[in-house]
Amino acid sequence: SVSVTLEHVTKKFKDVKGKADVIAVNDSHFIIEPGELVTLLGPSGCGKTTTLRMIAGFELPTEGKIYIGNEEVTMLPPNKRDTATMFQSYGLFPHMTVFDNVAYGLKLRKIPQEEIAKRVNETLALVGLASYGDRAPSKLSGGQQQRVALARSLIVTPSVLLLDEPLSNLDALLREQMRIEIRKIQKELGITAVYVTHDRVEAMSLSDRVVVMKDGYIRQIGSPNEIYEDPNSRFVAGFVGKAAFFPVQVKKHDKKIWVCELGGKEVLVERSADNVEVGSEAVLMARPESLRIVESGQGKIEGKVRMNVYLGHSLEAFINTSFGEVLVQIDDPHAKKVFKEGENVSIDFTPDRVRLLNKS
Ligand code: ADP
Ligand code: MG
Repeated sequence: SVSVTLEHVTKKFKDVKGKADVIAVNDSHFIIEPGELVTLLGPSGCGKTTTLRMIAGFELPTEGKIYIGNEEVTMLPPNKRDTATMFQSYGLFPHMTVFDNVAYGLKLRKIPQEEIAKRVNETLALVGLASYGDRAPSKLSGGQQQRVALARSLIVTPSVLLLDEPLSNLDALLREQMRIEIRKIQKELGITAVYVTHDRVEAMSLSDRVVVMKDGYIRQIGSPNEIYEDPNSRFVAGFVGKAAFFPVQVKKHDKKIWVCELGGKEVLVERSADNVEVGSEAVLMARPESLRIVESGQGKIEGKVRMNVYLGHSLEAFINTSFGEVLVQIDDPHAKKVFKEGENVSIDFTPDRVRLLNKS
């Protein structure tokens, strides 16, 4: 497999009136290692699709260079790049069988008949549709149609697979199955892949690394664990998972411990983003599973239970506090004391489970 490199890539479009520039992608710079699956994650309009289309060659960068392996491909047309793209709307040919849909790319390449048959059957088996070759696409479920589209992208054995929100037309359960499927196949083939999504759960569960984007800028690149546990900004923290944010005053930094003031109380924090300064106002970020509910007066933040939501494997408690509503996840709803709705409680945490972030 091959790497994909973006070297200071910027893409500007003219706005609808053809006047001002829209900067869709701003100085994007990263390397995707061979065999890696990297997700571009961010809200709608942040430049994910534009980035993917530049890697595929459907869009040319305004500035910067793109490499696939060691080859510069910046200005090459899509068919001269060793990539295959799978889009959100999978666009199968309705008048062709599943077999012919998958065979299409090979027929265009004038590959001998017997080899086409062999490769189509292998690829259909790979996506779990071995016995579906003779069907019409309309006789398949949404998930099966998605598999055909995946087979159609994979059959040309691209070095790089590009996927733009490929599962967004499916219902939740199917989406979950298909993303596991895509990940298995991608690993099995060792193919380098770029996956675009605005769905954090999808990004977290699929990726080797995630590129978090906003307004055309890359805000953070890291493994799912890194961006969840050690986000470098409030935006990333909130976009990749549930979090509470408490305003604090940073008093001092000593022996890897930050001493802060939170609502008149002293709290200790062991983790911090690089740009947090002593003497500044900052925010303390806490994930729901990092917080505990204790008896009123025993913790760091006073509140009242507004609602308990039972989820089977866990319980979510919504606590009203003077800093707004705070979500606390209770891992085992059966073993521990559960505080009742309306009860006065206190929220507690340990220094290693919370993180300081710059206020902005
Ligand atoms: P995403 O896929 O993250 O939703 P896009 O890459 O599609 O975002 O778009 C990024 C920005 O570029 C948006 O502001 C969008 O309106 C703009 N844009 C995308 N394609 C074009 C185009 N062909 N012409 C003008 N503006 C565009
Ligand atoms: Mg898009």
